[in-house]
Amino acid sequence: MLYNSTENKNEVVSAAQAISQGISKDGGLFVPQELPQYTLDTIKTLLPMSYNERAKFVFADFLSDFTSEEIADCVDSAYTKEKFGSDCPAPLVTKKYNGNEINIMELWHGPTCAFKDMALQILPHFLTKSLKKKYDGKTAVILVATSGDTGKAALEGFKDVDNTKMIVFYPEDGVSPMQKRQMNTQKGNNVNVCAIKGNFDDAQTGVKKIFTTEEIVKLLNDNNMLFSSANSINWGRLLPQIVYYVSAYCDLVNDNKINLGDKINVVVPTGNFGNILAAYYACCMGLPINKFICASNKNNVLTDFINTGVYDKNRQFYATASPSMDILVSSNLERLLYMFSGNDDKLVAEWMTQLKTTGKYEVTPEVKEKITSQFFGGYCDDDNTKSTIKKLFEDEKYLCDTHTSVAINVYNQYVEKTGDKTPVVIASTASPYKFSHSVLEAVSPELICDDEFEMVERLNKVSGAEVPKPIAELKNLEVRFNNVTEADKMPEYVKNTLGI
Ligand SMILES: *Cc1c(COP(=O)(O)O)cnc(C)c1O
Repeated sequence: MLYNSTENKNEVVSAAQAISQGISKDGGLFVPQELPQYTLDTIKTLLPMSYNERAKFVFADFLSDFTSEEIADCVDSAYTKEKFGSDCPAPLVTKKYNGNEINIMELWHGPTCAFKDMALQILPHFLTKSLKKKYDGKTAVILVATSGDTGKAALEGFKDVDNTKMIVFYPEDGVSPMQKRQMNTQKGNNVNVCAIKGNFDDAQTGVKKIFTTEEIVKLLNDNNMLFSSANSINWGRLLPQIVYYVSAYCDLVNDNKINLGDKINVVVPTGNFGNILAAYYACCMGLPINKFICASNKNNVLTDFINTGVYDKNRQFYATASPSMDILVSSNLERLLYMFSGNDDKLVAEWMTQLKTTGKYEVTPEVKEKITSQFFGGYCDDDNTKSTIKKLFEDEKYLCDTHTSVAINVYNQYVEKTGDKTPVVIASTASPYKFSHSVLEAVSPELICDDEFEMVERLNKVSGAEVPKPIAELKNLEVRFNNVTEADKMPEYVKNTLGI
């Protein structure tokens, strides 16, 4: 299988190249030229398989330049019982909300308690094998700018991975105390963490600049190193996400919740549009999905886009209780637009240029029609996020995090508006303990205090929900990093850390 850029169809690369490069030279994103087609018989063969076997099956079609041994090695190193707590990294839990049955797909059992582990535990394995095919013997230097979740998940994924080094930059005052502690206690001999004096944009701009500074690129090259990327537009991060939708469908059939061939609806709390796009790819491959419900918080640029066909990021930015969805430019949407425009790379490039220059673009009526026929967009503010957590907890004694709550609330809006009661899978993207303050505020506001770990304990007492080991252990871990640098000193920091 080959991949081409969404902004230039003539830029064609292998999977290993797409994963090594991360993004196309023209600024477009790599997309598969065609998708494997699964019949109901194909899905039937997946039913008796474990999660890892299903993953290997799906990857084999997409990573045609990998051997089956290489793929098996990637999967079995990533999704282990040790890292995900069981042999099923993405379990389904069935609850009722407002009288409707909801199947909650818990994607947060990995080492950092957020769904990004599903991709970032396997990306390092894809990447090191890809580099070996393309750039054998070199060490990949991965720079990450993070506002919290991605940094920790990337560190945990890449720690002690051969031939890689990682440096994570985060805004000194722009991440939660829990996220800061998660990063600063990170283990691994090849990783480094540094706060910068500035905001997330300063960190991101700094990283991008380093990537393109000729002097540094040459220094790396002289030392047998090269830059690579772990951010969410890398195909190697999207691909692993397709698997859990296929796997959840199989689980629903095995649990007699649906018959093979029945359609399901999928609800995803959305930021950069990666997770929901993976579900859409699964559908294009033949997984019977009826509707994609795209849930946003008060930063509802996607809700408006789905409803009007106009993408307009010129609006106020809100810091919400679901911070991982506080985003105004959803990068992965570009891949959907490419498909819906009939692979029209020129048109996609034009829209992306408009987005960069004016912050706005409008899709054609044909594209808009495709979007509205398959996607439903809705949003939910912080008050409703909290009341949804509270209701689900009171009715079912089940605790969900703020992002998952946005999804459940928007799903409820969808059912009330349409009456569509197709069986549903709701992506649950983080452990409630990762956002203890907001979750406690929803269920027992009188217990709020200013000590993060005390709040975790109080939330555990109130709910009885198990505290994930990585969060429970955090309190006693040694702080390894307390580096701070000025944003304009980042290049020196990188050179010193790498010893070049
Ligand atoms: C990253 C993230 C999201 C958004 O996922 P996208 O793939 O960017 O749409 C939602 N919830 C949590 C907890 C996240 O960390």
